[in-house]
Amino acid sequence: MNGNFNHVSVLIVGAGPAGLSAAITLKKADPQAEVCVVDKSAGPGFHNLSGAVLEPPALHRLLDMASPQWAESEPAKKVLHKVTRDDVLFLWGKSMSFNISWAIGMAKSLGLGFGQMTHHGDYICSVSQLTAWLTQIARSLGVEVLQGFSVEDIHWDGTVATGVKLVDRGLNKDGHKNRNYAAGETVTADMIILAEGCDGLVTEKFIEKAGLKRTNNQLYSVGVKELIKVSDEQYKSFGEGRVVHAMGYPIWSPIIGPSMFGGGIMYAMGDNKIAVGMIVGLDWKPCDFNPQDALTQFKNHAFVKPFIDQGQAVEAGAKMIPEGGFHALPRDPQTQNIGKANVMILGDSAGFVNMLKIKGLHNAIESGMAAGKTVFQCIKNPADAASEYTRQLEQSGVLKEMESAANFRQAVARFGPLQGMPLSVLGRCLPNFHCEPDYKEMTRGKYRLKPRLKFDKDTFTAIAATEHGEEEPCHLHILHPEICQKQCTPKFGGPCITFCPAGVYEQVQTIVKAANPSNCLHCKTCQRKCPFDNIRWTVPEGSGGPRYKTM
Ligand code: SF4
Ligand code: SF4
Repeated sequence: MNGNFNHVSVLIVGAGPAGLSAAITLKKADPQAEVCVVDKSAGPGFHNLSGAVLEPPALHRLLDMASPQWAESEPAKKVLHKVTRDDVLFLWGKSMSFNISWAIGMAKSLGLGFGQMTHHGDYICSVSQLTAWLTQIARSLGVEVLQGFSVEDIHWDGTVATGVKLVDRGLNKDGHKNRNYAAGETVTADMIILAEGCDGLVTEKFIEKAGLKRTNNQLYSVGVKELIKVSDEQYKSFGEGRVVHAMGYPIWSPIIGPSMFGGGIMYAMGDNKIAVGMIVGLDWKPCDFNPQDALTQFKNHAFVKPFIDQGQAVEAGAKMIPEGGFHALPRDPQTQNIGKANVMILGDSAGFVNMLKIKGLHNAIESGMAAGKTVFQCIKNPADAASEYTRQLEQSGVLKEMESAANFRQAVARFGPLQGMPLSVLGRCLPNFHCEPDYKEMTRGKYRLKPRLKFDKDTFTAIAATEHGEEEPCHLHILHPEICQKQCTPKFGGPCITFCPAGVYEQVQTIVKAANPSNCLHCKTCQRKCPFDNIRWTVPEGSGGPRYKTM
């Protein structure tokens, strides 16, 4: 496809697990269906990152339908690794660790929410590889998957969506047209599926235009992750099929720790590679905090270090996760539908992450299958799609599961991890505590466990293999530079310079600028954490951004 398309029956924005599951389900139901998936990345899975533990049933049903011999296929052997050991640790200081898996087991037997945090029988998988595999299946069924096409807006006429607008190509840094300029086309469609991932730009514009509402603010976390190739002995001693989730040091501890939500992860990814990451709620308070500093401390903890010492980081990346759960789902206030008329919102774009399980990929796939079935049923009445999709989500159990974890993250955000986590066992008996957007939580306080050496962001960005055209316009906009100079820098020291995992922001003389936009990893943390809500992330030309292969 060369981009000369202007009408499709079904348009899916985002070729991640949710969007591809929708396309595959629809094509299996109706091989004649005209379905096109557009994605801003240069190749399948390049923008998909997650330290993923995946609950199998939804994926199994999708694959059984699409490719019945899948279990024997090469991609299945490469991508899916069974979890055979599942540890939850509490790290105390730099050297002590306590295995608290027994407490999770006890919570499970008592039917408490925390009991959902078990992973036995799940898969550890690279989401970028899973996405590449699903792309292959979708294409084999005749789905048009177009890489390198960025969407910047959705056309909403007040009652239905008529299409989307692609990003212009060939503008120079000043926004003037180069010789290769091509205006972004408008692609019209009968039905539109938004599956862009977390904090999708088109999704958020649609929510505003169509008047959808959340009953609480969406809360985010950011995950920074490295894939480390270790020796045979280290990998063997860590254990094939093992997942570790760690709370406590270095982001909070009951007595001295700063009050942050999150923790470290270690997953055995096969081929002697261990994924090591740190996930931190964006409602962190210290103005000099950078999740990569916490990752450094985690990697040097006495439990973690022996498994990765002298290992080589072969890939790295960063991504936000939507954590607000049930109360942060965008709904039509009149109908409670997750979408409106002929538009459906899927996966992380809707926020189907269950924070009690620390998992959302199964729901992304499930929501994709629900959308695929919906299109098949509503092809003659596209305006019924959002209501049928919501009904399908209810029937599939996605919404029930989301409701079971409804107040967990809000309780932690409102009262801090120390009080909020125990309080959250009251589950649905708790009210929907109002939470401020993450960016409002920053204080002048300092992160107490800063490592001695500065994190090497250049190497991190280099192994994420991110790139953008050096001559294209900057896609990061600081709305009011004077706020940086007069308010933020004196008060907080310009936190975007510290927390951006790719070192995009710099202070040039006295001015804070997005000086290195070509390094951007598309994590969108800056848009949600700038304490003055002063940054807007826009979509760059297609094909820019990271090139994750095994993340
Ligand atoms: Fe502060 Fe935001 Fe300006 Fe960065 S962009 S200096 S975080 S106000
Ligand atoms: Fe993430 Fe913003 Fe930095 Fe890009 S500029 S890597 S979106 S924090």
